[in-house]
Amino acid sequence: MNPQSVTTLPTAEESSESLDPIRAMVSACIQCGTCTGSCPNALEMDLTPRKMWRLVILGRLSAVMESKTFILCSDCYTCTLRCPRGLPLTEAMEALKGIAFARKEARHRGSRLFYEKFMETVRRHGRIREMEFMTRYFIAMKSPVAPFRFAPLGLKLMGKGKVELGGGKSGDTPLGALFEKVADLERTPAATFRKEGHQ
Ligand code: SF4
Ligand code: SF4
Repeated sequence: MNPQSVTTLPTAEESSESLDPIRAMVSACIQCGTCTGSCPNALEMDLTPRKMWRLVILGRLSAVMESKTFILCSDCYTCTLRCPRGLPLTEAMEALKGIAFARKEARHRGSRLFYEKFMETVRRHGRIREMEFMTRYFIAMKSPVAPFRFAPLGLKLMGKGKVELGGGKSGDTPLGALFEKVADLERTPAATFRKEGHQ
């Protein structure tokens, strides 16, 4: 562990029980930095993954929620595969997103709505329908400029045939039952983690 880096971490914050299940996941962290060195998105993150886990262990909820590090995690699982302690880091990043979204953190509103509308569309159709997804997202954002921000990217994707206009060709396969099952499992992340034999 680099002592210098610890002194740069925020210090005056409250502990919070909501971090406890995630703290249990990463409590064996030895601050080696392998996760940071392996993360393809680390350069865009305001806190490196290693610092994020240190804050989680310290229970610094406000500092963790202020960060966009977990929002930028793209679930590639590289850190999870390389962590010498075998910690479930990708699941822990997802759990942090869950806390931020449940708290309706204003800083992460756009990301929360993006995730919500994406998953709503997948739940309804069993696949993404780009036009419906983006329409739902823009309505939820209640921002008249949001569609214009995405217009250049949308036009580019349409030009390459990556965006399906209208209802699409394939039939719907709603995934409501599957989503309910996953929601049940996610209600007890710490219990599930212990059941799998990680202490
Ligand atoms: S790779 Fe694992 S042990 Fe090393 S800093 Fe990251 S979480 Fe901690
Ligand atoms: S799972 Fe997330 S935090 Fe881990 S290496 Fe991939 S993008 Fe980075």
